[in-house]
Amino acid sequence: MIIDVLTIFPDMFASVIQETMIKRAQEKGLLKINIHDLRAYSNDPHKKVDAPSYGGGAGMVFKAEPVFCAVEDVLGHTVYPRKEKDPAKCVVLLSPKGKTLTQGSLKRFLDYERLVLIAPRYEGVDERIREHLIDEEVSLGDYVLSGGELPAMVFIDCIARLIPGVVSDVESIIKESFEGDLLDYPVYTRPEDFRGLKVPEVLLSGDHVRIDQWRKAQSERITQEKRPDLWRKRKASGKKSNET
Ligand code: SAM
Repeated sequence: MIIDVLTIFPDMFASVIQETMIKRAQEKGLLKINIHDLRAYSNDPHKKVDAPSYGGGAGMVFKAEPVFCAVEDVLGHTVYPRKEKDPAKCVVLLSPKGKTLTQGSLKRFLDYERLVLIAPRYEGVDERIREHLIDEEVSLGDYVLSGGELPAMVFIDCIARLIPGVVSDVESIIKESFEGDLLDYPVYTRPEDFRGLKVPEVLLSGDHVRIDQWRKAQSERITQEKRPDLWRKRKASGKKSNET
């Protein structure tokens, strides 16, 4: 998969894409991330990409021109008037007005070979970008960040770990929080006894049937306590306790 990011702060991405899992994914050839400086597509002598909002109001707005030009350059073809959508490519706007990202909704992005992420700042983007350029609008949640860079990084991280081969321990992904609308079970590591606080006996038993039963029961208990909304969803979908 190739992910292109359009941003006015390309340096913010350096540590995220050059470290840990995302670095390894790129080294393995499973993922390629290209960070593009939107200012390079500005026809303004000062390389500005924003302008005041028509009708007045606080804050600046990302102009259509540099964003359209950047997407056209990345995709290698004009994007307006819109042609039939290329099923291999998806242009994503990070925005608090978008659909909230969930573990479930993330997975459909794996179907694309190329994702183009637009990470705005200020008051957001000229509405013509939303109406005539993007394919998807994604929000991280019901709160407002000062820019789309952190949401883009979160999105990249979540997607990267789902690409087959990126995370070596596949089971850790299958059994993670939100799979089957359940939160993950509690985990413990050495020592068995920390200041009198003991690891549950079942986890030391070596009996994998009992361990699995305990973990499922814990997942269910935690989900009911912490996320009754998820628990209701699970119940409504008809999943039983032996299903993930
Ligand atoms: N005035 C905009 C509004 O109320 O919808 C908020 C603009 S915000 C200060 C600047 C940029 O940060 C947005 O254009 C978006 O790219 C990003 N952003 C802020 N909150 C976000 C969220 N919850 N999810 C995704 N992107 C967000």
